[in-house]
Amino acid sequence: MREWIRVLMDAGFEAGQLREGQPMCELTTMKVGGPVDLAVFPRTREQVLVALEAAKQLGCPCLVVGGGSNLIVRDGGIRGMAIVLSEGFCRATIDGCTITAEAGARLSAVGSMALTANLSGFEFACGIPGTVGGAVAMNAGAYGGQIADCLLWADLLREGKVYRAGAKELELGYRSSRILKEGLIVLSACFALKPGDGKAILGRMNELAASRRDKQPLDHPSSGSTFKRPQGHFAGALIQQAGLKGYGIGGAQVSEKHAGFVINRGGATARDVLELIGQVQEKVLAVSGIRLECEVRVVGED
Ligand SMILES: Cc1cc2nc3c(=O)[nH]c(=O)nc-3n(C[C@H](O)[C@H](O)[C@H](O)COP(=O)(O)OP(=O)(O)OC[C@H]3O[C@@H](n4cnc5c(N)ncnc54)[C@H](O)[C@@H]3O)c2cc1C
Repeated sequence: MREWIRVLMDAGFEAGQLREGQPMCELTTMKVGGPVDLAVFPRTREQVLVALEAAKQLGCPCLVVGGGSNLIVRDGGIRGMAIVLSEGFCRATIDGCTITAEAGARLSAVGSMALTANLSGFEFACGIPGTVGGAVAMNAGAYGGQIADCLLWADLLREGKVYRAGAKELELGYRSSRILKEGLIVLSACFALKPGDGKAILGRMNELAASRRDKQPLDHPSSGSTFKRPQGHFAGALIQQAGLKGYGIGGAQVSEKHAGFVINRGGATARDVLELIGQVQEKVLAVSGIRLECEVRVVGED
């Protein structure tokens, strides 16, 4: 471990950018999960590349983390390095109708920039609590919109080389992409928006935010929708039909407000959350014959 830190500090990282034993529960919205051996917080593209290269040279497994809003880390934590982009690698610029943002930029921040510039097309993303990198990788979407609708290109890292890929090359599907399949890393992304009316854009953003407050358990930690939407069904409705609304294990619970969300109602462990997810999948399969697929990414060791 000390060796990794020495290599990174020799490459220009400051001590405050390197945190040994960082609890992952502090970096994920579900608020569960043990420590990662080393969390690295790069501020520039060069530092992201240096951290990844150092991990490769040292044979150290490496996970890229954005807002941690679709990530459950097991209680034993992560052996290796987490490169966390959401704290320092988050600049964004506007040029005409396009916004280019570093991977760690929050979707809400990009949405605010779009609003200030009277640009429409990003309203759907404002309430999604993730970063640009995580959202492009997941092809995040809500209320009839998805990243694929407005993404122009992304700068990616594959096997140590940076290249620019057009949106089509990324094969963005329902919460899936080539990025996740092939373990590529998003460094930045460019969104093409349209001129719009500021009042209408703000109105739509407020309307979607109100809908989220109304329907989603935003007062508890969660990872959003736990399961993907099965074709022709809604995960929440299937879970409710299986009688599991409000069902809990330890500190984890199927939300009373929206059965598609597993929440941490206080003091949950990752084991509680994952056990509950497993039981929900089994019971829904038994009752409806439908296998719910997890939308949330699960990493780390028990
Ligand atoms: C209350 C709540 C509401 C939500 N609502 C929605 C919604 O409406 N629609 C929706 O789609 N999602 C929703 N989500 C889920 C989540 O916000 C999205 O999936 C988001 O896009 C994840 O981004 P992130 O930066 O938090 O990614 P993380 O959780 O940090 O990472 C998710 C995955 O992406 C990978 N990843 C992260 N950054 C990069 C990168 N730069 N390059 C390559 N891979 C990367 C990670 O390794 C991991 O596999 C919600 C979550 C919460 C908690």
